[in-house]
Amino acid sequence: MKIAMIGSGYVGLVSGACFADFGYRVVCVDADAAKIAKLERGEISIYEPGLDQLVASNVAGGRLSFATNLGEAASDADVVFIAVGTPSRRGDGHADLRHVFTVAAEVAAQISHYKVIAIKSTVPVGTGDRVDEIIRRSKSPSLFSVVSNPEFLREGAAIEDFKRPDRVVVGVPDDRSRAVMEAVYRPLSLNRAPVLFTDRRSSEIVKYATNAFLATKITFINEVADLCERAGADVQQVARGIGFDGRIGPKFLNAGPGYGGSCFPKDISALIKTGSDFEAPLRIAETVSLVNEERKRAMGRKVIKACGGSVKNRTIALLGLAFKPNTDDMREAPSIAIVQVLKDAGAIVRAYDPKAMENAKGFMDDVKFAPSVEACLDGADAMVLVTEWDMFRALDVMEIKRRLKQPIVVDLRNVYRPDEMEAAGFTYVSIGRESVRATSA
Ligand code: NAD
Repeated sequence: MKIAMIGSGYVGLVSGACFADFGYRVVCVDADAAKIAKLERGEISIYEPGLDQLVASNVAGGRLSFATNLGEAASDADVVFIAVGTPSRRGDGHADLRHVFTVAAEVAAQISHYKVIAIKSTVPVGTGDRVDEIIRRSKSPSLFSVVSNPEFLREGAAIEDFKRPDRVVVGVPDDRSRAVMEAVYRPLSLNRAPVLFTDRRSSEIVKYATNAFLATKITFINEVADLCERAGADVQQVARGIGFDGRIGPKFLNAGPGYGGSCFPKDISALIKTGSDFEAPLRIAETVSLVNEERKRAMGRKVIKACGGSVKNRTIALLGLAFKPNTDDMREAPSIAIVQVLKDAGAIVRAYDPKAMENAKGFMDDVKFAPSVEACLDGADAMVLVTEWDMFRALDVMEIKRRLKQPIVVDLRNVYRPDEMEAAGFTYVSIGRESVRATSA
């Protein structure tokens, strides 16, 4: 099996390296020459646990290589995966499919024997049909099939998710392409991963409906958290009580500062647009998106309130900037809105993140990036935990108190325990739980 992976970002590089690890010959292609040059030198431009070793061992084994031009890779391949970005189109929230269509036209030029074109990028329903049309302009339909194969991996756990997925979904137009994709995913089906074959349009919708449902679950528990906070209940106990219900399940019920990342915000907005194009409005998704955007800013206001109503000229130490732990991805991270609200209120913002500070520089101005947790906390007026990296879980609370000018902690991930923070003399504000006030603060 020969595979060409077009687009070597999070999805393309992880999928390409995992396919190579199954024993296939994989060429990862990317239009970004600097990215490919780095990969050829053995450098990975994203932070993803385990990826550097996986790439290195498969390159050394001769199964994984890189290219800037898709020509040879695509013409040799049995399956060409399209894994390029599909960002929000500027201004209107539709998915921008420019890269997908460019690649489709370039791949068409390389087809001389039968191959499957598998769309791994997240694309709106009907995109497979449009890619099929593009290729038909120059090639006979007997030479190719276009399939939909959305990716569900999570950044930070991407290799594990790819190798042990909850399910693989493949939308196929014919039996021939189904047989090829069955062979591609045989290593996973042998491992008992469910491989679901559907029609192409259903597969395209599965991806968006999954992300919209997960975003809804997060947003729902976030609103329940607000109720808990005001009513004197504890959202973590409520979430456990809900999560034991087999119809609901315990995952994605951690209340926090709102969802972010490269996928949920843009995918929900693209789904809303698709719904309106098809005159099938998705009002729940619309509300989820609005509530989530508002929540990120509300977190900034929560910090100001915890600091007694003003942060003017006060130094606020943020721990964690990435949209979630174990990634350096800053796209749509709640920290961006929180920093903005704090800066607008006159605060001096200092921040530390173990992996995302370099990327964060492109998303926030006038923030002092600290070289360590300690340097971030020293002399600050308050600490705000924004992203729950493991290294922040084990911090010594008395040490935090010694370093801060005032013992104020705002914990947007419910990492610490209110009773312990109260005993240690903090003003401690978390999500969906009772706040405690230090008598001295
Ligand atoms: P990314 O931005 O990290 O990578 C996309 C890559 O495609 C870039 O390296 C870019 O240079 C390359 N590219 C763009 N145009 C190209 C062209 N014409 N030829 C060759 N390469 C080209 O994006 P990503 O996070 O990997 O996401 C890719 C797709 O997968 C998106 O549709 C996304 O929604 C979807 N997805 C992402 C995740 C995730 O967690 N990141 C999970 C599931 C699905």
